[in-house]
Amino acid sequence: MSVDDNLEEVLRSLPKNVTLVAVSKFKPEEDIMQAYERGQRIFGESRAQELKEKYEKLPKDIEWHFIGHLQTNKIKYIAPFVRLIHAVDSINLLKEIDVQAKKHDRVIDCLLEVHISKEDTKFGFTPDGCREAAAEIRSLKLENVRVRGLMGMATFTDDREEVRKEFKTLKTLFDELKYEMPDFDTLSMGMSEDYEIAVEEGATMVRIGSMIFGERQYK
Ligand SMILES: *Cc1c(COP(=O)(O)O)cnc(C)c1O
Repeated sequence: MSVDDNLEEVLRSLPKNVTLVAVSKFKPEEDIMQAYERGQRIFGESRAQELKEKYEKLPKDIEWHFIGHLQTNKIKYIAPFVRLIHAVDSINLLKEIDVQAKKHDRVIDCLLEVHISKEDTKFGFTPDGCREAAAEIRSLKLENVRVRGLMGMATFTDDREEVRKEFKTLKTLFDELKYEMPDFDTLSMGMSEDYEIAVEEGATMVRIGSMIFGERQYK
């Protein structure tokens, strides 16, 4: 199967109101351009320098999302153009994004990452930590970031009910915080293996890589 066929199949399986982020990390520009030619404009990357290089070479109407763990010293590479940062997991990181965005006279959209999985290697706020962070963000009134919602990753497991339970936890927290966070409209959850469950549980945005571009070779 080619990238465009895969993309078409994924798009057919998604409700119209769910936004697809095509995760192109580790994939060459030719693959991205195949999806681009089919109309895909939102792509996700997880390394700052790789994202910067791709941004420079590829069409300027691509909307680039940063989906990985972001270190504060790497924000500068992506601040001039990045549209949405999915995995903000500390107030300090959010403040630094605000500083870098200001330098470019931009407002950068961000999501708060919530740790919902059983794995302890993944980053993110606990649900309570996220509630506290939301309160602090409201009091800070940062002008160059806009917190649009939440992002999470479920446990990597064949246990579909466990995955569903974790997505439900995130959706419940999202609905709770939406009342206090005026810009909340985005719930980013679901990857190649579990996006159908995520959509059933209320995802507004899914991040799909290998199902579109094939398995990745990590070098
Ligand atoms: C790599 C990655 C994805 C895409 O994973 P696939 O299993 O290839 O669909 C989604 N979200 C994040 C945060 C990732 O790092």
